[in-house]
Amino acid sequence: MHDTKDKLPEGAGAQPARRVRSLAALGEATTDLLIIGGGIVGAGIARDAALRGLRVGLVERSDFASGTSSRSSRLLHGGLRYLAQGRVGLVREASVEKTLLRRIAPHLVQPLGFIFPTYRGTDWPLWQLRIGVRVYDLLCSGHNFESSSTLSRTETLRRLPALEPNRLNGAVRYFDGLTHDARLVMDTLRAAAAAGAILLNYCEFVHAKRDGACWSCDVEDHLTGAQLHLTTRVLINATGPWGNRFPQSRVRLRLTKGIHCVLHRQRLPVPEAVVITEGRRILFIIPWGDRVIVGTTDTDYDGPPEAVRTEASDVAYVLQSVNRFFPGLAIGEADVLSSWAGLRPLLAKANGTPSDISRSHQIRLSQPGWLDVAGGKLTTYRLMAEQVVDRVLLELGRPRIPCSTAELPLLPPGTSVEFSGVQPPPLSEAAVRHFCTEEWAVHLEDVMLRRAGWEYGLANPASVARQVGAWMADALGWPPAVLADELEQYESAADHSLAAR
Ligand SMILES: Cc1cc2nc3c(=O)[nH]c(=O)nc-3n(C[C@H](O)[C@H](O)[C@H](O)COP(=O)(O)OP(=O)(O)OC[C@H]3O[C@@H](n4cnc5c(N)ncnc54)[C@H](O)[C@@H]3O)c2cc1C
Repeated sequence: MHDTKDKLPEGAGAQPARRVRSLAALGEATTDLLIIGGGIVGAGIARDAALRGLRVGLVERSDFASGTSSRSSRLLHGGLRYLAQGRVGLVREASVEKTLLRRIAPHLVQPLGFIFPTYRGTDWPLWQLRIGVRVYDLLCSGHNFESSSTLSRTETLRRLPALEPNRLNGAVRYFDGLTHDARLVMDTLRAAAAAGAILLNYCEFVHAKRDGACWSCDVEDHLTGAQLHLTTRVLINATGPWGNRFPQSRVRLRLTKGIHCVLHRQRLPVPEAVVITEGRRILFIIPWGDRVIVGTTDTDYDGPPEAVRTEASDVAYVLQSVNRFFPGLAIGEADVLSSWAGLRPLLAKANGTPSDISRSHQIRLSQPGWLDVAGGKLTTYRLMAEQVVDRVLLELGRPRIPCSTAELPLLPPGTSVEFSGVQPPPLSEAAVRHFCTEEWAVHLEDVMLRRAGWEYGLANPASVARQVGAWMADALGWPPAVLADELEQYESAADHSLAAR
């Protein structure tokens, strides 16, 4: 995986002009706020703050969305299981956000039906789920994408013929949204840039010290090795799983790891998403084009966030759950095309199992001019950003400027969504050129894993990578040695692929 000590190789050509301009602009004048972290939370704050007229900078140590925000289950959801835990406020907040996101970014929110089969003698009785999905619909202010319903045993088996029939009672069917997490980040960043935010990937925030009413910050440009010196009035720590790594931060995190496996849909044919259970835990089988995404796990993690990987035991856990529900399909490790592993940056408030920990968020003024933002979900990123920018205005002593992100379309009118969306865009040179010139892609994996998701969505990703590499070489002026290096680094990256690809 391309990571922090990742300079452009000798002869890699000039830095893209846009990046050079951004570097100059950030060094030029004091920003109102400098956001550390280019995941969904940082991106959302950048857009909101720029729309409210603030001077905004954002630095990301690796690629945008390379942290948790490209490693989720990609669901925009209230979280049916949190309802079972009695967290009604949390479910309502996220439910409202999911419907709102569909309004402002319809190209990134695909309504998706979920079939939740229930069995006699388990933790999920049908009568309880019936009530649960009704309440779930109501919590979207009565505007869920479609109304939930109950399926008889016969109807459940008609829709899912390979489902284990023994002790099956029937199912409930409810609706949530499917998105593409990394695309949501990219489009939010495109909107932020259009509103005037200065955004830099492969730039690591290293250190800050208070200098009067400002912060004096050291940032390292990982593409050139240059050290940058920036000043800002407010610093926002939006680094997700890395959030407690700075001496100024006061967040306490509990990191839990979750993995997803990608399989051919032919091997696990589902007409829409399916919820399967492991005791009180739930896993999803999510259709995505001719693939299905299956996950996730939820286990405590205490290693360095950048080292998180899918282990064989994680895959075994996921496949065991699938095979309990679809025993006739005998899904094996060889069916797994690829996988990804991510870390939930949960607030370390409680003991209990990882699945019991709240997905709520926290915004904290930990030092004068230093805001930590932690926890939360992809689904609630817009709301988190709104609350953070409200605090920033207070900190800057500015009058309250109303937030507009709940109403404005995510992308400004006239912005192309040709190469965006929930499903992987078709492979094309035009798309690759767009990702390089308009979406800050500088390495092969930036396109394959995050801008397009072709690694997960297309057959023969290794040969797709060679084609994409050749197009990127053309767009970015890579000489042959750089292309060879990019391909080698991509092929050897172990975190996104398994042997079966
Ligand atoms: C397995 C799994 C499944 C999930 N499924 C869902 C779901 O279906 N729906 C949902 O709503 N939520 C889901 N979530 C939660 C959601 O993905 C996260 O809450 C969200 O992506 C966190 O975003 P973030 O911006 O806080 O963190 P990140 O995306 O991790 O971004 C933080 C960024 O900070 C950067 N950074 C770190 N240190 C520095 C530094 N010194 N300088 C500059 N940059 C730095 C990192 O490189 C990283 O890119 C899931 C999470 C996991 C792990």
